[in-house]
Amino acid sequence: MTGSGYRGRFAPSPTGDLHAGSLLAALGSWLFARRAGGRWLVRIEDVDTPREVPGAATRQLHALRAFGLHADEPVVRQSDRSPLYRAALEDLADRGLAFPCWCSRTDLAATGGVHRACVRAPDPDRSPAIRLRVAAGTRVRFDDDLLGPQLQDVDAEVGDFVLYRADGLWAYQLAVVVDDAEQGITHVVRGADLLDSTPRQILLQRALGLPTPGYAHLPVVVDDEGRKLSKSLASNPVDFADPLPALDRAWGALGQDALQHSDADTVTAWLARAVAAFDPAKIPRAATRP
Ligand code: GLU
Repeated sequence: MTGSGYRGRFAPSPTGDLHAGSLLAALGSWLFARRAGGRWLVRIEDVDTPREVPGAATRQLHALRAFGLHADEPVVRQSDRSPLYRAALEDLADRGLAFPCWCSRTDLAATGGVHRACVRAPDPDRSPAIRLRVAAGTRVRFDDDLLGPQLQDVDAEVGDFVLYRADGLWAYQLAVVVDDAEQGITHVVRGADLLDSTPRQILLQRALGLPTPGYAHLPVVVDDEGRKLSKSLASNPVDFADPLPALDRAWGALGQDALQHSDADTVTAWLARAVAAFDPAKIPRAATRP
C-alpha cells in the first residue's frame, strides 16, 4: 500500500472550520495519494498567528477524522518548525539571495505591489522584512497535472517576495517550501487559488537546492454568486456529524459520477468505493460548486 514512493499532503491554515473548498482539497489530495498507493500527510499551517482562530486546528483535525481521512504520519504544525525555516533563510542570506527590506506596502503601491529595488533606506528603529531576490527577467514554467503548462513572469508580476515578515512572522511561501521538502512530499494537490504561488515556490526550491514536486490544482469551490468560499468568512462549514452527504458533494465537485451507496454505509466503505472509482480526467478545470 505504501511502497509507491508517492507522498501527498493536505495543509490547512487554522483560520476557520473546514468548508466545502477545504474538504475538496483534503479529499482530492487523499484520493490521488491512495490511488497511487502512496502516503498522505496532514500539516497545520499556523504561522500566520493573527489570522488563526482559536480551536480551529483541533476542529479541522476532528473533521478530517470524521470524514475517514486519516494521516499516515503524525500531524506536524508549522509553529513547531521555526528552526527549519531559520536555517533556510540564513542559507539564502549567506549566499546573497535574500535581503532585508524596509519598504512598506504604500511604498510599493506605485509599482502595483511589485518589489524590484528598495525605495527605503535601512531604519535601525524598525525590523525589516526579508525578501528573496528575483533576478530581472525571471520566468517560471511548470506543467500542472490537471491544468497543463503554466508560465509566470515572476519578475514582472511578483518581484522580490517576502520570506520573513517585518512583524516577525514566517511567510507562507518559505514555510510551505521548506516543509514540503522536509516531509518528502512528491505531489502537491491543492486548490487553484494557490496556482499563482506555485512559481514562487518553484523558484525558492531552486534557490535552496530542493526538489520540485508534481503539482495538481483542483477547481476552486464557489458559491451561487461565483464567489470563492473562504474559511475565514466562516462560509459553509462542512457538517461532519453527517459526513456522507458532504463527501458526496465534494465528490460531485470533483466531477466524479455519483457513487452507489446507502445511507447506512460507513465513511470507510464510501472511501474505498471512491478510490476504486476515482478518475482524475473527470475533474473540472474551472470553478466548481459544492
Ligand atoms: N495553508 C494553505 C491554505 O490553507 C494551503 C497551502 C498549500 O496547500 O500549499 O490555504
